[in-house]
Amino acid sequence: MSEPRPPSPATLAARALGRVDEATGAVAPPISVSTNYERGADGSWPQGRSYLRDRNPTTEHAEALLAELEGGAAAQLFASGMAAATCAFEALLRERGPRPHVVAPEAMYWSLRGWLQERAALGLLELEFVPNGDAPALARALRPGRTALVWAETPSNPTCAITDLAEVAELAHRAGALLAVDGTVATPVLTQPLALGADLVMHSASKQLNGHGDVLAGALVAARRDALWDTIVNERVKRGPILGPFESWLLLRGLRTLYLRVPASAAGALRVAEFLAGHPGVSQVFYPGLPSHPGHAIAARQMRGGFGPLLSFRVRAGEAAARAVARRLRHFSEATSLGGVESLVEHRASVEGPASTLPSDLLRLSIGIEDPADLIADLSQTLDFALGRL
Ligand SMILES: *Cc1c(COP(=O)(O)O)cnc(C)c1O
Repeated sequence: MSEPRPPSPATLAARALGRVDEATGAVAPPISVSTNYERGADGSWPQGRSYLRDRNPTTEHAEALLAELEGGAAAQLFASGMAAATCAFEALLRERGPRPHVVAPEAMYWSLRGWLQERAALGLLELEFVPNGDAPALARALRPGRTALVWAETPSNPTCAITDLAEVAELAHRAGALLAVDGTVATPVLTQPLALGADLVMHSASKQLNGHGDVLAGALVAARRDALWDTIVNERVKRGPILGPFESWLLLRGLRTLYLRVPASAAGALRVAEFLAGHPGVSQVFYPGLPSHPGHAIAARQMRGGFGPLLSFRVRAGEAAARAVARRLRHFSEATSLGGVESLVEHRASVEGPASTLPSDLLRLSIGIEDPADLIADLSQTLDFALGRL
């Protein structure tokens, strides 16, 4: 008899790995909320668990699924994406410190950029920014034997800059550095950074991985269980930002529909981007699915099945009109975050504050799973209003 075909990620996600609860036979995953575990007669912990801050079965279930979806050796879940990313950097300081050299992209998640700059100002690490996807600039910034880590984010939030991960992985490794990728916007459905050579993937699971706007969570997935990974695991135990059982259970529930939601949002986002690109009231659209986007060719090669839910555009009539559009849209909630089933609009420059380098007429959209025709009709009517046509 031939070997059974290994299940695809979509099947593993839909079935939550197909684990049936041994105690009850339940098909839907149970929640295990206990903070502590009883010792056996010989004084040991029979299942290797003693306290919830280390690990718990529900969080481990979601971690096992996420590791499979990313093709990684192990995954850890955290109380937020920021907790996951900062824990990775704290582990790096221990493993490759003191004062490791880190190269990061100019356009990256705003709060993490600020946190890294604070650490650099404290003298804890040496930080260098390079333009997203600029391989020659990265090659110049790398210091062989000295650079510990290259951080990448593709597509970047909110301008959707694209980075060729295979190229960056090769450059980083040649210089003896690791590559870590913020994969939040693409998700493992569209891009698997580890298969392209990355050493570590970070996610804000608050976005598409959970997908329903009701969980704050973060994840790290490693290509190998090495010394850095052990340090990450220990850092989480010591600091305590493990994801709780309830959130882990909700995340697991959200992950089961990931392979339906991500392609649906991406298809809707492409239609919205195409509509906006043809509208006279819009001066620029940032979406890697458009052939006019500078990263389109790389994105088309690197991303499978779509270009993600996130896009940004500039309102030709300026900032006041952009803000009016955000407030007036009916099928988009004016709110931060991305990757939920409902569509969102946000004026990013006012969120980021005076230090922001974004144009003040830029609006960011996160496309959900609504009928794209409704979203386009809403945008059309609202932009006409902003143009003074109504
Ligand atoms: C939201 C986000 C983060 C931070 O995650 P939280 O869960 O909000 O802490 C990091 N990177 C990207 C790209 C994000 O969109």
